[in-house]
Amino acid sequence: MSFQSLGLSEPLLKAISKKGYTTPSPIQEKAIPPVLEGRDVLASAQTGTGKTAGFTLPLLHYLSENPKAKFRPIRALILTPTRELAAQVHQSVLEYSEFLDIRSTVIFGGVNQKPQAAAIRRGVDVLVATPGRLLDLHSQNLLSLKRVEVFILDEADRMLDMGFLRDIEKVMKVMPEKRQNLMFSATFSKDIRKLANGILNNPVQVEATPDNSTVEAISQKVFRVAKGKKTGLLVKLISEGNWKQALVFTRTKHGANKLTKKLISSGITAAAIHGNKSQGARTKALAGFKSGKVRVMVATDIAARGLDIPLLPHVVNFELPNISEDYVHRIGRTGRAGANGKAMSLVSADETSYLRSIEKLIGEKIEVEIVEGFEPDPNASTEPIKQGQGRQRGGGNRSRNSNSRNSSGNSGGNSGGNRSGSNRNKSGNSRRRNDRRN
Ligand code: AMP
Repeated sequence: MSFQSLGLSEPLLKAISKKGYTTPSPIQEKAIPPVLEGRDVLASAQTGTGKTAGFTLPLLHYLSENPKAKFRPIRALILTPTRELAAQVHQSVLEYSEFLDIRSTVIFGGVNQKPQAAAIRRGVDVLVATPGRLLDLHSQNLLSLKRVEVFILDEADRMLDMGFLRDIEKVMKVMPEKRQNLMFSATFSKDIRKLANGILNNPVQVEATPDNSTVEAISQKVFRVAKGKKTGLLVKLISEGNWKQALVFTRTKHGANKLTKKLISSGITAAAIHGNKSQGARTKALAGFKSGKVRVMVATDIAARGLDIPLLPHVVNFELPNISEDYVHRIGRTGRAGANGKAMSLVSADETSYLRSIEKLIGEKIEVEIVEGFEPDPNASTEPIKQGQGRQRGGGNRSRNSNSRNSSGNSGGNSGGNRSGSNRNKSGNSRRRNDRRN
């Protein structure tokens, strides 16, 4: 399969070849044809699969082949959960549209709104946005979504985790009912399916989940260790292994901050990246890490999603995630062909059940090592960490996942948006490109 055979226009093929892509990735192969047809698409894909091009290329093809009003109303809205992802997606839109007469911009919170409002006023075809700033500018009448023809919801699962359901519902209410909808999510919980039912109309479902071969290509190891000795073990691994670059995952923001401080006091350059950090601090941390100035980046799952950091030599689970799929996403950061990726997990007794679930998901047992001086505590309870017990576990806040479950659960209970969604669904089933032209 080639990009040519997918039917993409010449200017897009030129941009693709400039990027150095030779063949479409599986998600691109599966998603591009139905998107070009004008169908709604529900795609299961995580960062690293090439999903951004999977929706951006057919979107740009459609917009450029069907030019509209000269004053350039917003014709496509791409909603992302985080500022970093918004910036990255916009960068992709810019690169893929280099040889087209398409204008785009990105808006997100934490920075001055004036330049963003000015860019929109000048006219953009494609707007990439995070929900908060989008609704903020909308409420100030600084933008209109009345002419949106294509709505793309990226990383929908993270949107729900971060409590954006209400915002998504608000956005849907200010867009025309007739439009094409694309939804991307790495995981498919009940809440995600409910959201998809509310947004999508007779969608084509496509999938590009990390398969076992990705997992197999990564060397994985579990270090059984006492909870209180994890930091010491991590310092030893980094120092003695002379690691140049490592991404370390913690379950909570508080845990990320605490670990970062301890690494720095042990003489290891480190920076934390999570949702409580200002935009400036996050950008700086990421830039420092990419340039090699910062050896260790400590991140929570939410913050790490969407970060485009190629070829990481080391990924460490300082704590195992309580959602097994997150493990696959985390270690996928090392898993590029030919790269010498190592994924290590520091596992204390209370994480035993998480480890079992992960092994069940990936279908293999992970090799275990015990380092002298950092042995597991034989008296520690194997009782799993319960939701909401974070404070007892060393002053941390509640786990991300306990928070997220609550937030998505609560917001999932609000069925207003869904109802309007299903009404809309009744208006027709197979929506073709002509329909979204209005
Ligand atoms: P994404 O999953 O959209 O974040 O993309 C992950 C990475 O894969 C990005 O660095 C893209 O530039 C790259 N990429 C996307 N599509 C292709 C392709 N067909 N061939 C090679 N690399 C690609």
